[in-house]
Amino acid sequence: MNNTLSTQLLFELSKPGCRAAQLPECDVPTKPIDQLLPKDSLSNTAPPLPELSEPDVVRHFTNLSTRNFSVDTHFYPLGSCTMKYNPKRNERLAALPGMADLHPYQPESTLQGMLALLHQCQHMLAEIAGLPAVSLQPAAGAHGEMTAMLVAAAYFRDRGEKRTTVLIPDSAHGTNPASAAMAGFTVATVKSTPEGFVNLDDLTAKVNEQTAVFMITNPNTLGLFEPRIGRIARTVHEAGGLVYLDGANMNAILGVARPGDFGADLMHFNPHKTFSSPHGGGGPGAGPIAVAERLAPYLPTPVVAKDGGGFRLDYDRPKSIGRVRSFFGNVGVLVRMYCYIRSHGPEGLRRIAEDAVLNANYLLHRVKDFVPVPHGGRCMHEFVASGAKLKSDRGVSTMDVAKRLLDYGFHAPTVYFPLVVREAMMIEPTESESRATLDAFAEALAKIVEEPAELLHDAPRDLPISRPDEVQAARKPVLRWKEGD
Ligand SMILES: *Cc1c(COP(=O)(O)O)cnc(C)c1O
Repeated sequence: MNNTLSTQLLFELSKPGCRAAQLPECDVPTKPIDQLLPKDSLSNTAPPLPELSEPDVVRHFTNLSTRNFSVDTHFYPLGSCTMKYNPKRNERLAALPGMADLHPYQPESTLQGMLALLHQCQHMLAEIAGLPAVSLQPAAGAHGEMTAMLVAAAYFRDRGEKRTTVLIPDSAHGTNPASAAMAGFTVATVKSTPEGFVNLDDLTAKVNEQTAVFMITNPNTLGLFEPRIGRIARTVHEAGGLVYLDGANMNAILGVARPGDFGADLMHFNPHKTFSSPHGGGGPGAGPIAVAERLAPYLPTPVVAKDGGGFRLDYDRPKSIGRVRSFFGNVGVLVRMYCYIRSHGPEGLRRIAEDAVLNANYLLHRVKDFVPVPHGGRCMHEFVASGAKLKSDRGVSTMDVAKRLLDYGFHAPTVYFPLVVREAMMIEPTESESRATLDAFAEALAKIVEEPAELLHDAPRDLPISRPDEVQAARKPVLRWKEGD
């Protein structure tokens, strides 16, 4: 690869006079621009655009595109994100003109196929959740959380109950407290036990008549299934509160356990994680929610309803919290989800969960001797290793290890999350990786922890950019090219 070419900006590659296309002389009468546009709309100077030939532009962007780590090019064990392989067939199906070229303002009678598909999505998610009512509208997991918190708030308001607090374990994803706060609740933290589970004493002490919702991620962010989930749900329900399940980790329990059966009243799905939509580049995703029957009246409008032989969008829902997104949600992601679920079927979905858990346990056992896993010898779909000892013994941080993995051709795991593990490395291989890939990753990690500290501080060493100053990049991003820079 030509390294110089693809690390230079288009502006640096610019050669005055270069053009991608040569237009022929205009053969119709022309008028000067200042006779066509008002003077104050005109600039005195031409915009400083780069001047390049078409091959230069194509090579620039094509070379840049090969600088990405992606699921299609590399093993991507980013914990909590479920970076599984996205079957290409789902892309083709979502791109069919009958799917991709629909307009949301078309008459309902001409959208029957899409509405049937969305109706089935509602049905399938209800079945997987063990909760009967579904909204497909939210645009991401975090948006699903917030929508569900608004549903819970509307439910309590309707009952005349003044419940102001949402309880959240200290191992939760940051979106949980953010969603609860945005929906107007006060957030209180529930401690974890040293084993990484919900501290029942702390929960019992904090749950009361103010408690609206207890949000739990199960399996949790340590990759552990909460064994006392039944008791936890009873404790919350006895105090009149609702149990919310953050469904980001559904990949571990698909077809094996249903949140509605273990006590959840509301939950979200992340189709871009569990049901194979490409993600990681900032979206789009989706965050459908499923809720218990008594919460169904409060779901966003519209929901897709079936009437006789046809489908329609039901807006006649007087208790609804209203819209949370335009139209029906991110339909393209939902179509991919539909294809993925239908092509696996119930048996296949269960197999996904079993294989994801098997892969994670295999990898855990391959790496635990050189990166300790503080929370036990078994996991669900992911596990959290700790680089704390490496840090204290050799001054090598988890960041050093994560950066060095890039040199070996692996995406780094999620690092420094969850906060309850020091120097955390959260590793989620997913079901779509082969044993050979898992072995290669474990061997790379084994080599890295033996490498000299000075070398690791400098990693990545073989990539075009080593360590950007992340603080500077976040505080003072340079987003605009200025002439003379
Ligand atoms: C990814 C994730 C979320 C947020 O989902 P988005 O779709 O990224 O908004 C919430 N909770 C957990 C545990 C997650 O892993």
